[in-house]
Amino acid sequence: MSERVRTGVRVEGVVQGVGFRPFVYSLATSLGLAGLVGNDVDGVFAEVEGSTEAVAKFLVLLEQEAPPLARIERISTRSLGLTGEGPFVIAPSQLGGQRRTLVSADSATCADCLRELADPADRRYRYPFINCTNCGPRFTIVRDVPYDRPLTTMNAFAMCERCAAEYHDPADRRFHAQPVCCPDCGPSLSLVAASTDPPSDDPIGAAAGLLRAGKVLAVKGLGGYHLMIDAGNEAAAAALRARKHREDKPFALMVPDLATARALCAVDDVAAELLTCARRPIVLLPRRPGPGRLVAPAVAPGNRQLGLMLPYTPLHHLLLDAMARPVVATSGNVSDEPIAFRDSDARTRLAGIADAFLIHDRAIHIRTDDSVVRVAGGRESVLRRSRGYVPEPLTVSVTFPRPVLACGAELKNTFCLAKRDRAFVSHHIGDLENAETLRSFTEGIEHFRRLFDIEPELVAYDLHPDYLSTKYAADLDGVALLGVQHHHAHIASCLADNGEQGPVIGVAFDGTGYGSDGTIWGGEFLIADLAGFVRAGYLHPVPMPGGAAAIRQPWRMAATYLAASYPAGLPGDLAVRQRNERQWAAVLTMAERGINSPVTSSAGRLFDAVAALLGARDAVNYEGQAAIELEQLADPGERGSYPARVTPGAPSSSLAPLVVSGSDLVRGAADDLVAGVAAPVIAGRFHNGVAAVIATVCTRLREQTGLGVVALSGGVFQNLLLTGRVVSLLTDAGFRVLQHRRVPCNDGGISLGQAAVAGAWDRLSDA
Ligand SMILES: [Zn+2]
Ligand SMILES: [Zn+2]
Repeated sequence: MSERVRTGVRVEGVVQGVGFRPFVYSLATSLGLAGLVGNDVDGVFAEVEGSTEAVAKFLVLLEQEAPPLARIERISTRSLGLTGEGPFVIAPSQLGGQRRTLVSADSATCADCLRELADPADRRYRYPFINCTNCGPRFTIVRDVPYDRPLTTMNAFAMCERCAAEYHDPADRRFHAQPVCCPDCGPSLSLVAASTDPPSDDPIGAAAGLLRAGKVLAVKGLGGYHLMIDAGNEAAAAALRARKHREDKPFALMVPDLATARALCAVDDVAAELLTCARRPIVLLPRRPGPGRLVAPAVAPGNRQLGLMLPYTPLHHLLLDAMARPVVATSGNVSDEPIAFRDSDARTRLAGIADAFLIHDRAIHIRTDDSVVRVAGGRESVLRRSRGYVPEPLTVSVTFPRPVLACGAELKNTFCLAKRDRAFVSHHIGDLENAETLRSFTEGIEHFRRLFDIEPELVAYDLHPDYLSTKYAADLDGVALLGVQHHHAHIASCLADNGEQGPVIGVAFDGTGYGSDGTIWGGEFLIADLAGFVRAGYLHPVPMPGGAAAIRQPWRMAATYLAASYPAGLPGDLAVRQRNERQWAAVLTMAERGINSPVTSSAGRLFDAVAALLGARDAVNYEGQAAIELEQLADPGERGSYPARVTPGAPSSSLAPLVVSGSDLVRGAADDLVAGVAAPVIAGRFHNGVAAVIATVCTRLREQTGLGVVALSGGVFQNLLLTGRVVSLLTDAGFRVLQHRRVPCNDGGISLGQAAVAGAWDRLSDA
């Protein structure tokens, strides 16, 4: 006969509103345990009493079989005296005091709900808002905490008797599912088409009919509106591009099922898992060759990849079932504006784009775009972290002595609020370049402050004086301010992403970041830890003739790079020069005289130069386009490489920085071009050359510092070809390589890095 014990259990993490108490209840009951379970400000508390074996088994299964939406951060136990009380019970909630529990992210419709959705005998048959404890809207409908129906946008819908009975029954799979509803009491769907059309009693069927007829449909989703078209309809795709003012950035697709995804793209096991997981991100996948009638050319012109997602709301499931083929599902906005999510705003802003609106009356409280991920090195790598991921906190390996707000960068902005050992990185806000995104940013910060009860005392911001996020920080009263250099934030973000503190050799390659010396950086080698950095190497700076114009027109970078590569004159008549003959000389004069030509060590601009040289693109329509197309152009089988000199520069500290000659790489490419080598081969050799020089610099820095760990960050590392080469060269050379996983390597990860720097800085001043 084994001993009888009573154990107190505390579970922290995302454990409320996810069916945790009913799970504990049925687990304890099945093991014959007595005791109780309840919610409080810290999460879930429980007491279990029974045989030592049963209690031990309970603790194992508690973690192993937790409900799908639960994210357990910590389980702690303590022994208690026996009480000998009766059956296991669910105790009343003890809410009050400081809030420390977490709101879960939105979650794709679960298998149980899908079964009911398709069951003619079920009372929620074909009901587009079916959900349960394990699935449905969460973060996007929460107005305040505690997460309870009155504080969500479901407060407008009073539960009918049958829904209320499910909601209050601990044995029901809708126990305390805050958005629970049915056709009798919940939101309803409608199709708003041209005013002459009669209202439809089958909005889904009518919407599918419009899509098949080549119309553009605005569809209200979880975190905002999508614009949808039949993906196989070239005319519809062209119309959508014209109306959205989106020239050639690829559209994402929603496909009915995994089989369709596999027909369009190569889907390995990891990708299949990502496509079907409850977060339901857009997954970037290698496209199968061949035209294919399911996807029109204008959907993703010249792209080797497609961004695919599976339906994640019941509404999507019904619509995609009716279509039975892929649809374009792109953000409901005009290019560069944030995604529309408020009904009246959507109707106004999308009026010139959409032919009809498929809408409903459940309000979206906070805008969240679709998240974007891909598989890199056999693991998930997040490129845009938003719906389905946010607001889950990222646990970090160090603590924040004071609550921190990090304001992020300008492009792909996110902010981050951090407290103790948790960092809440916001949803994707977008490019902070207009009043609408700025409002999203400021309102988002207020919302996160309330939800997670974080009152920032230390505020981190980018050094760039003109960023709106920097100006926002400067306007705050009563807080300590800390400027964090852009590329240091990138490396700190990579460290925090990996739970490390450094020091490391940081390689931060991107388009633009304000340097500590007031010039534009972007091809940086830093010896860095969370608290500080030394600039240990960089790409030799070149002028950007015309400033921002040189970013929009990569041929200008080709002109300056070629001038640096061939001081005695160009070898032969290069096509890039012929195409831009009219302005070529004027642009070079501008650069020579330093008129509106800031210098930059940007790696992004080096890629731009080679892209223009090879004829990939003289002018871009979206950020990073030339570099993306250069990567697409490159022959991945090419093993040749261009050498680049590395020379010591003027010492700025104890360390003489290593200066990399980018123009050597451009000369290698131009020489090959003149010699008639094919562009894909040259693009491949250029990528290999960049990778080789990164490895060379890291090796030299290891000799100087003894550091054997390299952290890779910055938007340039979205380039899979380059990253693959760099990682294999560094690994072969004996380095340990840190890469981003949980937050993007692009500027979307900057806020986490700023927060990590602020925390480290605070810990130092504490000590
Ligand atoms: Zn469900
Ligand atoms: Zn109901």
